[in-house]
Amino acid sequence: MDCIFCKIIEGELPSYKIYEDKRIISFLDINPINKGHLLVLPKEHHRNLADTPPDLLKELIDKVQKLSRALTEAVGVKGFNVILNNGKVAGQMVEHIHFHLIPRAENDNLHPWPGKTLTSEEMQRTAENIKKLIG
Ligand code: AMP
Ligand code: ZN
Repeated sequence: MDCIFCKIIEGELPSYKIYEDKRIISFLDINPINKGHLLVLPKEHHRNLADTPPDLLKELIDKVQKLSRALTEAVGVKGFNVILNNGKVAGQMVEHIHFHLIPRAENDNLHPWPGKTLTSEEMQRTAENIKKLIG
């Protein structure tokens, strides 16, 4: 399969690996937003959130929590972002599900997205539209 993360998992490409068990692997992002920026992913190839089996997803988030403790202590920060880019339009470049763990510092100038102001009707309608599609 032509997946860069599968190649890392198979050992065909190098990585700065920081964790590995039977189902999960974590390595440093090659183009870090801040020092210590990690990726955490399942070894099994799944494209995105919808494609990933729930039991594997639970294991993945457990490892995100565990690794975040080590990460914050190792790089000496008090906070971090956990990001999952889901789909090309959301910035997902590698189509093998992965969480980003990004350590944050007080004045790192990584500003969050701007917020939009919607009317209360739009907010209400949006909430209803989502609510009725929850299975
Ligand atoms: P995303 O945009 O969420 O798909 O993120 C993909 C991430 O993978 C980017 O932050 C890249 O810097 C990172 N990346 C791409 N190739 C490698 C690699 N060989 N080793 C580590 N990280 C990589
Ligand atoms: Zn893959």
